[in-house]
Amino acid sequence: MTARILVVDDVLPNVKLLEAKLSREYYDVLTAMNGPDALEIVEREVPDIILLDVMMPGMDGFEVCEQIKANPNLMHIPVVMVTALSDTSDRVRGLEAGADDFLTKPVNDIALFARVRSLIRLKIMMDELRLREATSSSFGMAEPEEDELSVNGGRILVVEDREIYARNINQALEDNHTVTMAINADEAIEAAKTGNVDLIIVSLSLQETDGLRLCSHLRSMEESRQMPILILVDDTPDQMESLVRGLDLGVNDYLIRPVDQNELIARCRTQLRRKKYEDRLRSNYHLSMTLAVTDPLTGLYNRRYLETHLENLMQRSVQEDKPVGLLAFDIDHFKVVNDTHGHAAGDEVLKEFAARVKRCVRFIDLAARTGGEEFVVIMPDSNRDTCVGVAERLREAIAESPMTVPDQGIDIPITVSIGVSISQGASDSPANIMRRGDEALYEAKNNGRNQVVCEAQDAPVATAQGG
Ligand code: GH3
Ligand code: MG
Ligand code: MG
Repeated sequence: MTARILVVDDVLPNVKLLEAKLSREYYDVLTAMNGPDALEIVEREVPDIILLDVMMPGMDGFEVCEQIKANPNLMHIPVVMVTALSDTSDRVRGLEAGADDFLTKPVNDIALFARVRSLIRLKIMMDELRLREATSSSFGMAEPEEDELSVNGGRILVVEDREIYARNINQALEDNHTVTMAINADEAIEAAKTGNVDLIIVSLSLQETDGLRLCSHLRSMEESRQMPILILVDDTPDQMESLVRGLDLGVNDYLIRPVDQNELIARCRTQLRRKKYEDRLRSNYHLSMTLAVTDPLTGLYNRRYLETHLENLMQRSVQEDKPVGLLAFDIDHFKVVNDTHGHAAGDEVLKEFAARVKRCVRFIDLAARTGGEEFVVIMPDSNRDTCVGVAERLREAIAESPMTVPDQGIDIPITVSIGVSISQGASDSPANIMRRGDEALYEAKNNGRNQVVCEAQDAPVATAQGG
């Protein structure tokens, strides 16, 4: 997932260094060397993340941050303050100015990429939710209350067996959150299993428990798979190595001891916010008001919602210059299923089909049932290769094992044909991208079904006139 990152620093070698590191990881980098320039670029380009030096002549980083966070159009962009190593008072001021996270100079790669990745995930969730809520409200549905999305009141599970450490963490968090303590893996797992946890903080220096193993266990349990995990590490080569392995395992972020309380607060806040947004996206907030927007048989969105949402998504995709992919699919020879096993069995197959589709796509993707046995998946910020890859995975997920009809105790093998189209900037429209998806699907049917066809790279956006 590419993202645009604005680097702001008054010292050219600092700018160049960060730019080089980030570009190497395929991020798009914008740069500014003073506050006013930074603000102008933020307004014009609306980057995904801002890395902001604190000390700059004239307008300093705090002021830049305050101005960004005071602007309703820009306040959702995560700001990372780049501060001098020792100065904790900078962090307090940064938090007050609305900063989302901190990096200390000199910036090391692990810290840089951990922060960037975690904030990009947050940003993606926020953007997606804002957009869906815009679509919902155009259906006359209520906007969420602002404080519904506040992150106070987070349920935080802390796995730490040394009392002083535990007390410090509790002190930093207890005013705004509910903190539960665990001192070993068993206690942690038991607490996580309840599902009543929004964030888990795991020490990697537990005496009885291998912290990394615990993290991997938590990642694999259904109840805690989606819970953000922060790890606490000591500044030793051993633990630094564990940290890298932890990040590979899917740990979301980390703190190095001695833990700075303000950093702890900021990182918890970022993780809790993302969890909250993800929960909302996943929850039936939308589905609950929903007869208007969902298909009752499969629980997927209906055509009307899809069309409204696609319109919003395509507008955003032009603004951000990121393509939207569309997968149009239609079950092969579905009429035969009905004819052979009856309509009720056909319905069961459609349900199982929809469930498999949902499992194959990210939850920022939108799956809709557009007709009897016809479906569409919309994939924001996805290029051609990604879309074709997902389509292929989807096709396989359907073909690899038959659909079970529990009541009749039968298994029905089915296949699906998929057409893929990719948005083409400002000249494209929802009707056009849907039509191109359908054309690709038609070709997949004609070529023998059970396959994916992507529109030609240079497919004309509109149908040729006349002829
Ligand atoms: P193709 O490979 O060309 O797509 O063949 P097909 O048989 O899938 O296509 P066709 O469009 O001829 O038939 C679609 C069938 O889907 C006909 C209809 O009975 C069935 N169908 C449509 N909606 C529903 C539904 O809600 N439940 C059930 N059980 N069947 C449905
Ligand atoms: Mg059909
Ligand atoms: Mg069909």
